[in-house]
Amino acid sequence: MPFGVPGTSLKAWQGSHALSQVPGISVEQLLPAGARLVVAAPHPDDEVLACGGLLASLASRVADITLISVTDGDGSHPGSAQWPPARLRDERRRESTRALTRLGFDTRRLAWRHLALPDGKVRDHAQALREHLLHEVREGDRLLATWRGDGHCDHEALGEVAAEVAQVRGAVLVEAPVWAWHWAHPEDPRLPWSRARKLWLGTQALERKHWAIGEHATQLAGDTSTGAPPVLNSTTLERLLQPFELVFL
Ligand SMILES: [Zn+2]
Repeated sequence: MPFGVPGTSLKAWQGSHALSQVPGISVEQLLPAGARLVVAAPHPDDEVLACGGLLASLASRVADITLISVTDGDGSHPGSAQWPPARLRDERRRESTRALTRLGFDTRRLAWRHLALPDGKVRDHAQALREHLLHEVREGDRLLATWRGDGHCDHEALGEVAAEVAQVRGAVLVEAPVWAWHWAHPEDPRLPWSRARKLWLGTQALERKHWAIGEHATQLAGDTSTGAPPVLNSTTLERLLQPFELVFL
C-alpha cells in the first residue's frame, strides 16, 4: 500500500482479533529501575509516532534516556520550493525540540544525538550507523528502533542495524511499528504477533503524545508548491488515538 492513500483505519484496527489478543507490558517491565533506554528514530517524528507515550511516561527519568535522530528528515518534501532540504532540516529539528518539550522533557538535559545521515539512504550508511549505535549502547540497555519489517527503507535499515548491535552489546531490542499501521491489514500474518506486547498509556501520556504530534507542522500540512498531500494524513492521526503502543520484543 503506497503512503499517499489513507491506509488501514483506526476502526479496522479496533476490530482486529490478533491485536486484541496481544498481552500487555508495563513501563516498569519494559524499563526496570536502573535500566537505560536508547531510542533510535530514523526521522524527526518517529520517536513520537513509535513511542511518544512511553517517552512521556519516562520524562522524569531523563538521565536514563538517550535519543538518536538518525536523519534530519530533510527528504520528506521532494522537489518542494516551499520546503527545500536546508529549510526543512532546520524546521524539523525545531519541531522535534518542541515535541519533546510537549512530552515533558527539558531537552537541554536529554542526551540527544543527531547523526545527520542522508534521509532515504540510511541503508547506504549502515556502517556509520552501526558504529554510532555500538558507541551508545551498553549491556542491559533497551534499544528501541523501528521494526525491521516496517515497509519504509530507512525504518527497516535502522531496525536491522539495531538488531545486530543489540546482539553484540547484550542489549534488549525493542522494535516498534510505525508505517505497518498504515499498510498492514488487521489480521496480517506478516506482523510478528507472537513477539507483540501492548504498552498501555495513561490519559496524560496519551494526551502528551497527541500534543507532540501536533508540533510536526511540516508533516501535517500539504505542500502548496508541489501539491503533495500531508505526510501524516487524518487516518494516521486517528490511529494515534489507540491508548497503547505496540512493541515487538
Ligand atoms: Zn520515519
